[in-house]
Amino acid sequence: MGSNGKKENNAAELKSHFSYSKIADALSDYDDAEYVIFGVPFDNTSSFRRGSRLSPNSIRYAYNNLESYEVNYNVNLLDCNICDLGDLPVYEDVDYVLSDVETVTDMIFRDNKIPIMLGGEHSITVGAIRNLKDVSMVIIDAHSDFRDSYMDNKYNHACVTRRALELLGKNRIISIGTRSTSYEEVTAEEYKDVRFISANEVRQSGIDKIINEVKNKTGDKVYFSIDMDGIDPAYAPGVGTPEPYGLTDVDVRSILNSVSKKIVGYDIVEMTPLYDNGNTSMLAAKLIQDFIASRASTGP
Ligand code: MN
Ligand code: MN
Repeated sequence: MGSNGKKENNAAELKSHFSYSKIADALSDYDDAEYVIFGVPFDNTSSFRRGSRLSPNSIRYAYNNLESYEVNYNVNLLDCNICDLGDLPVYEDVDYVLSDVETVTDMIFRDNKIPIMLGGEHSITVGAIRNLKDVSMVIIDAHSDFRDSYMDNKYNHACVTRRALELLGKNRIISIGTRSTSYEEVTAEEYKDVRFISANEVRQSGIDKIINEVKNKTGDKVYFSIDMDGIDPAYAPGVGTPEPYGLTDVDVRSILNSVSKKIVGYDIVEMTPLYDNGNTSMLAAKLIQDFIASRASTGP
């Protein structure tokens, strides 16, 4: 691949040979970037299978196996102005980590760029949405995450949707894929203030009906959070708290595509390479590409 007058851009391939600390398509500096990727390797409140702290680099490693050109959208990811800042240093204290996430996402939002946060566990999402007002939220998750507190901690990953409701307000949050919740959560008065769409309801209604509802019930700005356990363990086995009977990978892609042009912030959390056969990190990587490419596409 000598120069010899060839003008092709070898930067992505060359980068993939040397380091996995940044995804290969992330050729932009922060100043020129539209999308800002960063990892938050934190899994301290996880209750069952730990290891999501290891996932940012396993997602990057998987991503670097993908083509930069996305044929489904006719988009070249190399033209999409992506920057990868690397990983946030994290410590043991969840309050500290959330405030750090709040600080960095605030800067990214104020610069009119879109953060793409790679967890780590789901609790980190709360830090990102603290900066947002008048925003709808779409969550993909097997769990309702609606406990007021868990293991004496209001910022446990089992409390994410409850904290999001307090931050964003009623009738702004749609959580899709629900199939694990407690009696305490379902009977909480505030439970009805979030639209929980169970995985069974998605199967019974069909994905088109769900997409219509998601489009109609979200405003101009959407924060999109993918807890990888929302997807069925057949597609995404490498998660901290797997639940059978989940969403398909294609359903999640369709929901994501339906609102991608309204998304102001995005995260992929709860993936753990310790229990993965490689498919979960690859799907997580693909969901980064699907987000950026569907947003960049000139199609409907
Ligand atoms: Mn969750
Ligand atoms: Mn979950």
